[in-house]
Amino acid sequence: MVAACDSAKCTCREVSHTQQPGCWLASSGSFKVFSFRSATEAEEMAKHCERLRSKLADEYGFESGKSKWQHRCEVYLFPSKQRYGAVVGRAAQETLGSSLVTPATGAIKNRRIDLRTDVTDYRTEVLPHELTHVLIADHFRDGPPPLWYDEGLALLADSEDKQVLHQRDLRNGINRGKTFALADLLTIQQYPPQDQVGVFYGQCASLARYLSTKGEPRKMHEFARRSQKVGVNLSLQETYGISGVARLEPMWRKSIASSVPIIAARYSPSKNSN
Ligand SMILES: [Zn+2]
Repeated sequence: MVAACDSAKCTCREVSHTQQPGCWLASSGSFKVFSFRSATEAEEMAKHCERLRSKLADEYGFESGKSKWQHRCEVYLFPSKQRYGAVVGRAAQETLGSSLVTPATGAIKNRRIDLRTDVTDYRTEVLPHELTHVLIADHFRDGPPPLWYDEGLALLADSEDKQVLHQRDLRNGINRGKTFALADLLTIQQYPPQDQVGVFYGQCASLARYLSTKGEPRKMHEFARRSQKVGVNLSLQETYGISGVARLEPMWRKSIASSVPIIAARYSPSKNSN
């Protein structure tokens, strides 16, 4: 399905400029990009964000990505770690990008992505992940999405190189007997301690990839939404016809034992059917 914002009449990708104190602002249909380097950088990023948003909405079946965001997503391009860190705070200083959607419930008032642009390939290595988080937030207005799903789906938007690293982290976790029981992974609400973050991400990505082989993306969205209302077991039964987490766990573990080389199995609407 082609997103509405891809239509020939759509003005989403038309970009206007404003010189701001100390930076340049480029505005498109759904984005306001602030560059501290140049008007060109801001404009190119606004166009890129529009294209990427449409692509992710198509791949993941996000309805919200098919019309303009009323409250445009602000994207800040920081040319150094220092400037990025000064804004995002100490907790996120070791990251290369971050996203924030507020408030957590009800109508969205603010969407924001902060990126470091002094790193190679931030457009492909960082932006797709953060933009996926922003798209997901549109569909969870009664409260935050399940953490495994929010990260798992965003991780599938990562580059193939990064996917390999996530798989390595999962493999290390398996070898050390440090993986999470799925009953825990599916209900965890806080990020685990630093020494478990790698396997956590690897496992979230792996589970999202596995579920993406079980039907259209909307099934995973529905599974995540229903899990919060009726619990994981009933949601699994309703959405995937799987009798519960106790059944899903061996299915998923068997799949990773036999499919380690499979990486970057991103959604392809043309290949997926019911
Ligand atoms: Zn993330």
